[in-house]
Amino acid sequence: VLEKSQHVYFVGPGAEQFAASHGMMLIDNSELVLDRERERLMRAQARHSAGLADETFSGPEGVPGHILHDDKSPETAFPAELDSPGFGSHDTVGAVALDGRGNLAAATSTGGTLNKTPGRVGDSSLIGCGCYADNLAAAVSLTGWGEPIMKLVLGKWATDRVAGGTVPEIAAREAISYLYNRLGGHGGIILLGPDGRFGLAHNTPAMAWGLATPGGLQTGLSV
Ligand code: ASP
Repeated sequence: VLEKSQHVYFVGPGAEQFAASHGMMLIDNSELVLDRERERLMRAQARHSAGLADETFSGPEGVPGHILHDDKSPETAFPAELDSPGFGSHDTVGAVALDGRGNLAAATSTGGTLNKTPGRVGDSSLIGCGCYADNLAAAVSLTGWGEPIMKLVLGKWATDRVAGGTVPEIAAREAISYLYNRLGGHGGIILLGPDGRFGLAHNTPAMAWGLATPGGLQTGLSV
């Protein structure tokens, strides 16, 4: 889209046609449906019918930082049985990058949230919400409940702070505080400035991250 079109955003069948016309191999969407996810959906629907809170992003009660008054049912992270420093929570992957010529880029990929209403669009693909990059400001990718992130246009909010002089380490923490203080939201953020300084923050129970610099590779599960 960036290189072969005058547009910036394609969705639905037109996006598939565009991809196919540029040589991308398409698969049948049914290939993306896993038994594991069907089971998660059934568990989520049973919890919903029983009137239980969805603890996806906030984490189960008793986890440090657990918050009781989220404004929206979260969906995709850390079911109680997986609540250990481990994986299997959900599928959102974000990346931010800076090249040697000062170009910043961001990407966010997600399967969305569990048990969503058909037609629901999340923050991940929305420019300025779950994903944004500007060479004169910063690059950002977010995960978490999309609804509060969208209401706050949080990606742009965070990059504006970096453009205004706040270092990414601080701006990332401020963005997650803002998300929670304004709307009780839970999420995680990676934020990279034009000078290579970066920030990571989350108020979910954990967030896996990786870092590649000229100095080498580092990974972690929390910050
Ligand atoms: N932010 C995504 C959404 O709301 C979900 C996620 O990050 O896992 O669709």
